Amino acid sequence: MNILILGSGGREHALAWAVKQNPKCDRLIVAPGNAGIALLAEVAAIDPCDAAAVLACVEENAVDFVIIGPEAPLAAGVADALRAAGVLTFGPSAAAAQLEASKGFTKEICDACGAPTAAWARFNDLDAALAYVRAQGAPIVVKADGLAAGKGVIVAMTLDEAEAGLREIFGGAFGAAGAEVVIEEFMAGEEASFFILSDGVNVLPVGTAQDHKRVGDGDTGPNTGGMGAYSPAPVLTTAIQEQVLAEIVRPTVAEMARRGMPFQGVLYAGLMIENGRARLVEYNVRFGDPECQVLMLRLGGQALDLLQACAEGRLDQITAQWAEDHALTVVLAAQGYPGAYVKGSEIRGLDTLPETASQMVFHAGTTATDGKITATGGRVLNVTARAATLAEAQQRAYAMVDAIDWPEGFCRRDIGWRAL
Ligand code: AMP
Repeated sequence: MNILILGSGGREHALAWAVKQNPKCDRLIVAPGNAGIALLAEVAAIDPCDAAAVLACVEENAVDFVIIGPEAPLAAGVADALRAAGVLTFGPSAAAAQLEASKGFTKEICDACGAPTAAWARFNDLDAALAYVRAQGAPIVVKADGLAAGKGVIVAMTLDEAEAGLREIFGGAFGAAGAEVVIEEFMAGEEASFFILSDGVNVLPVGTAQDHKRVGDGDTGPNTGGMGAYSPAPVLTTAIQEQVLAEIVRPTVAEMARRGMPFQGVLYAGLMIENGRARLVEYNVRFGDPECQVLMLRLGGQALDLLQACAEGRLDQITAQWAEDHALTVVLAAQGYPGAYVKGSEIRGLDTLPETASQMVFHAGTTATDGKITATGGRVLNVTARAATLAEAQQRAYAMVDAIDWPEGFCRRDIGWRAL
């Protein structure tokens, strides 16, 4: 098979690494890719949201299967364009991608299928929204309806914060994504993520994970895209996973099919677990980044068979084979991230690290120039290890971190603490 992966982050490096292990994979192209991806695949300088350019790349290279990594091409309808042209594609239609692109849409689906989630209301007018939060009281959660790069959510512990959040969103801080606001009951508990493939009818779990969103040790400081993750998430016990499949995931998949927008791709369910039960916080319609890195290290080459079965509507005929192992990834970021950070500093020492089936440095924001690897993003490397225990995976990941010579970078030193 000739395979094209769309995207350029650590998630896509991990997908490419896993797909490449599978003997079915002949040519592997990643668009646009990054410096790490270029070490194992061909890269093509294409905008992944430009459906015409993606289709041209598919034709030129006789691509048999396209795997879409990030949400932007999904929301832009690239999966629709590919499927309309008869190309086997992993990733939901733009209509089904509303499960991530519109928080109000997801809440409506939950209500329609009875999936447990926070009580909610939706507003397109500041005064009505203010009156509602004053009536409800704090803590309360205020969200821009649309895609806001993870920044449109205000978990308000006081009424003042909730009101300031509403003024910010309706004031245009998130553009069109904030034309509508969803206000939710605050849910207490422990968060975890559950990843489930759906072919529109059947569902197949492919792993659980927990991430660390705050920039500082002990989960302090501002929010980021994620500073590390590990899999599995011990809080998502088998019993809770079964509850989530029965009460949340299967009903969602059935409701989407009933509405004529079957969901085909990976459902990333963000869950809040309290007293042994899970409620849905949100869905994403692609793999998490950096959660994908730990899932792929655990799945290896079978990931291609699973994604292909998903795209071909055969998830009832395949199972995921798990080793009883744990994976952990540490994000190395450029100093200053998530604020302003320096670009262009050189990273040394990567060539001293053997890359094996149980340890990989996935690249997120790197460029190769004159044989040097330089940092060009905020989150730059995902140092990932797999072992029999989480403690051992953590130890191995940090040993790799310590072998990397990059004074302009930093990482958290406590990834995995909650589970350890
Ligand atoms: P979302 O983009 O909807 O996942 O929200 C981002 C983060 O805000 C989540 O990962 C949670 O930590 C938090 N959050 C969102 N909704 C709620 C809620 N109803 N109760 C408590 N925390 C929430």
